[in-house]
Amino acid sequence: MSQFDVVVIGAGPGGYIAAIRAAQLGFKTACIDAGVNKAGDAPALGGTCLNVGCIPSKALLQSSEHFHAAQHDFAAHGITVGDVSFDAAQMIARKDEIVTKLTGGIGFLFKKNKVESLHGKASFAGKNGDAYQIEVDNKGEKTVVEAKHVIVATGSVPRPLPQIAIDNVNVLDNEGALNLTAVPKKLGIIGSGVIGLEMGSVWKRVGAEVTILEAAPAFLAAADQQIAKEAFKYFTKEQGMAIELGVKIGDIQNVDGGVSVAFETAKGEAKTEVFDKLIVSIGRIPNTEGLNAEAVGLEKDERGFIQVDGDCRTNLPHVWAIGDVVRGPMLAHKASDEGVAVAERIAGQKPHLDFNTIPFVIYTDPEIAWVGKTEEQLKAEGVEYKKGTSLFSPNGRALGLGKAKGTVKVLACAKTDRILGVHMVGPMVSELVAEAVMAMEFKASSEDIGRIVHAHPTLSEVLHEAALAADKRALHG
Ligand SMILES: Cc1cc2nc3c(=O)[nH]c(=O)nc-3n(C[C@H](O)[C@H](O)[C@H](O)COP(=O)(O)OP(=O)(O)OC[C@H]3O[C@@H](n4cnc5c(N)ncnc54)[C@H](O)[C@@H]3O)c2cc1C
Repeated sequence: MSQFDVVVIGAGPGGYIAAIRAAQLGFKTACIDAGVNKAGDAPALGGTCLNVGCIPSKALLQSSEHFHAAQHDFAAHGITVGDVSFDAAQMIARKDEIVTKLTGGIGFLFKKNKVESLHGKASFAGKNGDAYQIEVDNKGEKTVVEAKHVIVATGSVPRPLPQIAIDNVNVLDNEGALNLTAVPKKLGIIGSGVIGLEMGSVWKRVGAEVTILEAAPAFLAAADQQIAKEAFKYFTKEQGMAIELGVKIGDIQNVDGGVSVAFETAKGEAKTEVFDKLIVSIGRIPNTEGLNAEAVGLEKDERGFIQVDGDCRTNLPHVWAIGDVVRGPMLAHKASDEGVAVAERIAGQKPHLDFNTIPFVIYTDPEIAWVGKTEEQLKAEGVEYKKGTSLFSPNGRALGLGKAKGTVKVLACAKTDRILGVHMVGPMVSELVAEAVMAMEFKASSEDIGRIVHAHPTLSEVLHEAALAADKRALHG
């Protein structure tokens, strides 16, 4: 029986990073993963993120942005391209190539770092003294490995709708939404969270009529509402996505050539829409299926997440859990950073992970990004704050890019000027937010950002100006 210092279950961005870091720290490490490629005929490392999440969605977003730009934006630059056509199958093929390249890259990193990669479904089989026994089931071929430390990184799966099952033909989850090879005429989406908005943006730009149905009365309730409201206007009024908030979803049925969705609007009106395809993106739930957590008494909370403390320790000695399968935002970078921290804790180090400075990004156009507290949170907590905002509309770089739209808002403590939150909607704010994260991590004040030299002309000048505005000394405001 193979014995390891550390066995990681799951090779998503949480697990594969944890395994690499553990191996770098000198532990004999194995990473067990059950993931397979799109064809289902070979193992594929990288979890949701690389196979059916972050990476493929960003590839499709880019392709659809190019198509949209060629149709609508090139003329202003004096470029005539004639009739522009779109080949959905080619867009998907390009996305698949990127996925294959990156998932293969993890295998290479495992070899380089001497992580043993085991393919199959892992489950707790029991204990041998202090060591945990993990069974690996590779298509019925079972082996057992022993580990002094176990890191559970089994991720999450889409939350199902009680009304209808996902078939990935007409009723799609993220996997189906990322693999449509023809543009649906009418696309319905249930849920206006990150996945719903990103998938809606892709298929809208390439010609689908998109309707998003959202149960919550507020748009992007977790985001700063000033930014969310501005983004809502771009998506609905300018881009033509229909987003209905506060709806109650009723009956959903497969009908001839599509899916019918009955719902009640926020005003109490009963409606039924028939869509060619329906994407269900109502959140994700922790994945502990088949893990046999009960065999060793691994505890979960009432929502099915593996129960952990702030350091990712479970109720069992030497068993840790990270990423989507535990509390906190379901984000790849949060999973990875927890993975690094756990490997270092196993090695006796004292790593630091500040959950208050985890950035959030939505890759729509314009993008939305934030870090720290929203204005609504500060008000609810009774924190006295000041704010500075600045617009992308007069920014020279944004104008040159043809993307002069959006706002940056800096929230700082009224007494100390320490930055408490930064919220953005605008071009490439996914990249811009890193400066705000760094500033907050180093406990910077808005004055600190205001006194840092920002290159000209760059989009970062809008953050600079918002920080100056928080200090009531905006130069272009
Ligand atoms: C469409 C979409 C877009 C997204 N975009 C972003 C984004 O832009 N940025 C971002 O930060 N996040 C994004 N996310 C979220 C991100 O994908 C997750 O937060 C991240 O993948 C979580 O990582 P993880 O390692 O915890 O789990 P996962 O990535 O889910 O990996 C878990 C792995 O464990 C394996 N596994 C599960 N159970 C077992 C078992 N018993 N035995 C062996 N293997 C097992 C699974 O096969 C899988 O490979 C997106 C998600 C989706 C669906």
